[in-house]
Amino acid sequence: MKLALVGIGKIAVDQHVPALAESPDWDLAATVSRSGTVDGVEAFDSMEKMLAARPDIGTVSLCLPPVPRFQAARAALLAGRHVMLEKPPGATLAEVHILHDLARQQGLSLFATWHSRHAHGVASAKAWLADKVIREGRVIWREDVRKWHPGQDWIFEAGGMGVFDPGINATSILTEILPAPIHLRSAEMDFPANRQAPIAARLEFSGNIHADFDFREEGPQTWDMEFATDGGHLALRNGGNKLEIDGKAVEGGDRIMGAEYPALYARMAQLVPQGRSDVDLLPMVLIADAFTLGRRNTVEEFQF
Ligand code: NAP
Repeated sequence: MKLALVGIGKIAVDQHVPALAESPDWDLAATVSRSGTVDGVEAFDSMEKMLAARPDIGTVSLCLPPVPRFQAARAALLAGRHVMLEKPPGATLAEVHILHDLARQQGLSLFATWHSRHAHGVASAKAWLADKVIREGRVIWREDVRKWHPGQDWIFEAGGMGVFDPGINATSILTEILPAPIHLRSAEMDFPANRQAPIAARLEFSGNIHADFDFREEGPQTWDMEFATDGGHLALRNGGNKLEIDGKAVEGGDRIMGAEYPALYARMAQLVPQGRSDVDLLPMVLIADAFTLGRRNTVEEFQF
């Protein structure tokens, strides 16, 4: 199946292009980006031009930041194309509901992807936790924004989500593996004085689950969660890639995102022939609720 990749930035180059090159299902037939291109692939600088010129391309995969994503997704669906969305699936929840309804009306697939749910240890963690009572959970997601998002000013603009851009990967795993639903009870967010999105946040969820997200971590980078349960201790480290039960490694290793994007494209290849959608908004509901309920601190200015 032919696919167009839209927004040729960091994640498109690092993960989507290699995953598509290996995929038995997909042929990367075009790119849409104002400046980015992929060698050997027809390049367009606008969605409208690509949609008009390439009616043979049935699927569009959007790697834009969240704010411009809705307009591009809507145009693709109205032009009869299946759509795959990077996380977070939109700048607002209502946008994604509208896209989901539109896909349904058009008989097309909409896939709101959560790449971290495909990390090596996630399925096993979910299976192990299924019959446990969780007494306490701790999520620590601390990374250096200058290293992982160099110069991406959009991430600190309104709708860019700030530290919740990686933090939503943690809530995508939490909402996948926990045996019972959780909701936000309180939150505290640190906004740099010159920015519109938080650089750090601390969240408290029901079930005695706490999260610490920080974009200012210059030492070891941490993407871990740990749970004390009635049947032992589970730790899921390296963004869901390494699973430990009672301190012993049982699955995975240090690779970050190696298998996640091939799994997303395999899933999209299942959805498209059936015109089915896969849209789970729970990870984003928890983050939107932090903006609704959270207390706001102003902290020192941030420059890349
Ligand atoms: P990025 O490097 O800034 O790339 C985004 C691309 O979108 C740009 O290259 C830009 O290409 C295009 N674009 C179109 N309209 C834009 C606008 N108004 N502002 C900025 N760029 C615009 O960002 P990214 O890291 O690839 O992230 C894109 C999405 O992937 C985000 O939702 C992010 O959460 C998700 N993601 C990122 C990572 C990661 O590690 N970086 C991991 C997983 C998921 P042109 O200017 O050429 O049009």
